[in-house]
Amino acid sequence: MRTLFGKVLNKHYLNGLLPHGPMGGTSIQIRGSYSGPDSGSDVKKYQQFHLQTIDVEPPELLQRFQESFGSFVGSFGAPWNATQHILDYMSYAASILIRGERSGDAPTVWESFVNLSGCAGMAQTSSEVAAHWIRMWANQRPTELSTLLSDHGFSVSNIEKDDEILKYFPTAEYGYTSYWSDAADAGTEDEPWAGKFDIDVAAYDHLADGGLALARKLESVAGELMSDGICRCQLCNPIFDAERYAI
Ligand SMILES: [Zn+2]
Repeated sequence: MRTLFGKVLNKHYLNGLLPHGPMGGTSIQIRGSYSGPDSGSDVKKYQQFHLQTIDVEPPELLQRFQESFGSFVGSFGAPWNATQHILDYMSYAASILIRGERSGDAPTVWESFVNLSGCAGMAQTSSEVAAHWIRMWANQRPTELSTLLSDHGFSVSNIEKDDEILKYFPTAEYGYTSYWSDAADAGTEDEPWAGKFDIDVAAYDHLADGGLALARKLESVAGELMSDGICRCQLCNPIFDAERYAI
């Protein structure tokens, strides 16, 4: 019997969805160049063998990032329950930093990262929904994120794209679920979440059956609907009647 943490990690590794290391979560990589300060209270430097890393993490950058992103999400109407869950998740699990790496005498290479914590395996699905929305925000309002970063000395050249194979379906109580059409048809008693739907471990680890009944319900209520390949998150599909499928 694997631990819940092991289960979620294993599934995401199997699905090829966990490229960011064993702690899970999701991160968005932004390429560019940096000409701001590289010392001071917002800067941390550490050396590992020949590699020097410089992390610039001004608190005002995160605050303005949260405000701008929140107002983008707010433009899609009053938040559904599942959407509110993602906004809450963002308030404690998101961070943004500017990172320089210098190997030996080579010039420092600068990138910026938006990191969405998987909360040690408990919130992988929420981290994926948040990344889906941040990419959409950067795509639809390209100057907002670039301006936030350029105000701190980072000039954006390119924001990493993702092939976004997951689609999302809202629930009333368990946040968003992710749906992956290529996964196995149904979960099993041992692995309820081995099917097409997945949710945060935090949403089901208190359930006595490990979420088996919930996984089955999702498959029967939303499986056919989601097979059309359309995302039902509030930002992709603001007119979707989330309450009609209140799971
Ligand atoms: Zn969507």
